[in-house]
Amino acid sequence: RKSPVGRCMAQVAMVMNLDKCIGCHTCSVTCKQTWTNRQGTEYAWFNNVETRPGQGYPRGHEDQDKWKGGWRLDGRGRLVPRSGGRARRLARLFANPELPQLDDYYEPWTYDYETLISAPLGEDLPTARPHSLIDGRPTAVTWGPNWDDDLGGGPEHLAGDPVLRKMNDQVALEYEQAFMFYLPRICEHCLNPSCVAVCPSGALYKRIEDGIVLVDQDRCRGWRMCVSGCPYKKVYFNHSTGKAEKCTLCYPRIEAGEPTVCSETCVGRLRYLGVMLYDADRAGEAAAVPDERDLYEAQLDCFLDPDDPEVVRAAEESGIPHDWITAARHSPVRDLITRYRVALPLHPEYRTLPMVWYVPPLSPVVDALTRSGHDGEDPANLFGAIDTLRIPLDYLAGLFTAGDTAPVEAALCRLAAMRAHMRRINLGEERNPDIARGVGMDEQ
Ligand code: SF4
Ligand code: SF4
Repeated sequence: RKSPVGRCMAQVAMVMNLDKCIGCHTCSVTCKQTWTNRQGTEYAWFNNVETRPGQGYPRGHEDQDKWKGGWRLDGRGRLVPRSGGRARRLARLFANPELPQLDDYYEPWTYDYETLISAPLGEDLPTARPHSLIDGRPTAVTWGPNWDDDLGGGPEHLAGDPVLRKMNDQVALEYEQAFMFYLPRICEHCLNPSCVAVCPSGALYKRIEDGIVLVDQDRCRGWRMCVSGCPYKKVYFNHSTGKAEKCTLCYPRIEAGEPTVCSETCVGRLRYLGVMLYDADRAGEAAAVPDERDLYEAQLDCFLDPDDPEVVRAAEESGIPHDWITAARHSPVRDLITRYRVALPLHPEYRTLPMVWYVPPLSPVVDALTRSGHDGEDPANLFGAIDTLRIPLDYLAGLFTAGDTAPVEAALCRLAAMRAHMRRINLGEERNPDIARGVGMDEQ
């Protein structure tokens, strides 16, 4: 459905190309230096980079049976926050079992340099738990952000990944089938943010002009409902000020026409920023579609075509400035999400309509590679062998499309076709824009 156009809104969105992330954490560190380099926010990482498979940060944050973030449909098909219910919320003011604890984050520590330098030489490799100084005392450290960095696919490690746990026995937990990739995460600046819905003080709000979700520090009373209500666990409580804090999408830089700090400093140049126009009425309906596997398509259907005169008229009526409409027209984010459909949302099943999307990693076709020595990225190999990808399709679908493998498969095939095409261009082939749009792909 593409008409009539309802309430037209503008949203700053981001797409990250996971094939290009090298896990250097520059984005996390530059974000920290800019926004959370203060007392009370030592443990807060507005941007973090997770190794997948892995437990993420805070630990196991994707386990919504435990943390109860996002939205669910009630018996009558209406959207309600999973952590909602007034009586339940009041009870949780005193003891909130759905709030991650310090152990799920980590206690900031420093190296015990004395022991590091003066410990006697031993015969064995270290087998003891790592010890560090917390409040000046040597303490065993068992968890922290990126604790499981780069471990990839060891059996015990895989067991801690909530997405893999859901897939259960579909993946053989064998070392030789190990796989890994990096997943950088920030607040999703959702179209339907559950953090805003559950705040009793009205401190969290979504800016009408650009969709950025912020915390009004004057109104925040420190209830921490937003921490449990956000399914991505991207709100942090500042223990020094007693207020909630979160990613601001670097709004002062956006207002000045600059990219976010994480985008500007990204070593892999994998973050694309842009403006999307969307229909707010359709967004309300999309978040409540009964089958969670339809959420990706439903969210796609909310986005409006800024080349359509009717959309431009609706945007003008909503007071969206002309330079924003122009920006939406030339947005790389729009191309990747709606035109080429190679970018996918993270966990659409949380029903918050997230606005940081991801180009899935194009891993090699293991069987084709090993059996015939052919190029695993060549679409001729990929089309017939999608089930033998190094990174299982089901795993990517568990992250990006609520388990529906078809959109992930289509995105990967398009990426492979474009990669092969770009190589052939180097050998003198004519450019063919249809390949990016997936035209003729069905016949392959
Ligand atoms: Fe709110 Fe951001 Fe969490 Fe979405 S990801 S619910 S906007 S804190
Ligand atoms: Fe990945 Fe870029 Fe962050 Fe490095 S700076 S970890 S490449 S997203």
